[in-house]
Amino acid sequence: MSQNIMERADKVLAATYKRFPIVFTRGKAATLWDIEGCAYTDFVAGIAVCNLGHAHPRISEALAMQADALFHVSNLYYTVPQVELASWLVENSFADRVFFCNSGAEANEAAIKLARRYFYEKGENRRFKIIAMEKSFHGRTMAALSATGQEKIRQGFEPVLEGFDFVLFNDIKALQKKIDPSTCAVLMEPVQGEGGVRCADFKYLEAVRKICDKTGTLLIFDEIQTGIGRTGKFFAYEHFGIEPDIMTLAKALANGLPIGAMLAKEDVAAAFGPGSHASTFGGSPIVTAAAIEVIKELTEKKIVERCLSLGEYFKERLLWLKNRHEIILDVRGIGLLLGMKLSIRGESIVKACMEKGFLINCIQDDILRFIPPLIIEKIEIDALIKCLDEIL
Ligand SMILES: *Cc1c(COP(=O)(O)O)cnc(C)c1O
Repeated sequence: MSQNIMERADKVLAATYKRFPIVFTRGKAATLWDIEGCAYTDFVAGIAVCNLGHAHPRISEALAMQADALFHVSNLYYTVPQVELASWLVENSFADRVFFCNSGAEANEAAIKLARRYFYEKGENRRFKIIAMEKSFHGRTMAALSATGQEKIRQGFEPVLEGFDFVLFNDIKALQKKIDPSTCAVLMEPVQGEGGVRCADFKYLEAVRKICDKTGTLLIFDEIQTGIGRTGKFFAYEHFGIEPDIMTLAKALANGLPIGAMLAKEDVAAAFGPGSHASTFGGSPIVTAAAIEVIKELTEKKIVERCLSLGEYFKERLLWLKNRHEIILDVRGIGLLLGMKLSIRGESIVKACMEKGFLINCIQDDILRFIPPLIIEKIEIDALIKCLDEIL
């Protein structure tokens, strides 16, 4: 059965992905089943998307109810779920206003446009440069890839957009040197996800905030991967005691439905007036209705707090593995965004795990990443550790 699907796929789909030979048909919590009925424990969660796991009844129900009432009307009109979701985000973050779109890259597009527009409105239209980080990942649209500090993602799409510069992550001197009167914003992930699960140093982020304040530069946090509880706080910036001026969200916000959001403080958001930016689908009732339930479930059931302590447990277990296997060079990350750097390529380990019924993910060739649904059980973590121990 799966063979047939895969053969057809390889003929008709754009070959942009190197897929594993599994066809999934069903999921429940942290378990996925393929078309042949084999079960897998999911430590990928659709790349940090399905924080509440698969087929969550509360989300399915909210979706079904909203589907019966109203899918979409466009942003020419108001709808209730969009306002409710934005209100929650504003009440529970640094931000005062929210712009909804449909993906992470689009949220970053909005952030980049807003930063430039903000200085344009102030009459400083030569202030357009955005400083981003080496090894960052901000998405695949032209502006988002222009802001992405990885050669392989930009390759073949040149010329990329003008006005982006890169500095070494966690190097405050490099940033100090790079900021000049043409800089409008610093764009960064508090924890680099695709770049290899690398956390910003506490002191570094503090210093970044200070330098932005001193120079009037906007600070943009890309929390597309780190937001919505993934790191054990609802937003990763809460770990650091500082706030950005703009933040982008996507991935887990609707547990798998396509959504993106760009949040900003009032004075910055004011640069987006009527007609300055838009999205046909952005913030549609069907998607925002699901997102509201995601947020309610995460907060009411204290899943974010659980993620922090479970993440500590998971990390301890990975460190235990590191003590036993020399090919593990480093264990890092926070909450349930964890990485393990190897001295060998990780692909064979990913495949071996898959054969034993565990889905994990490898980034940057030699870093295994663990980003399970936040509702994963301790025994499922223990089972993966045992499996990894055997494979390694
Ligand atoms: C996934 C991701 C993006 C891109 O999101 P898409 O929805 O794929 O466009 C951007 N930034 C970060 C940090 C991400 O993890």
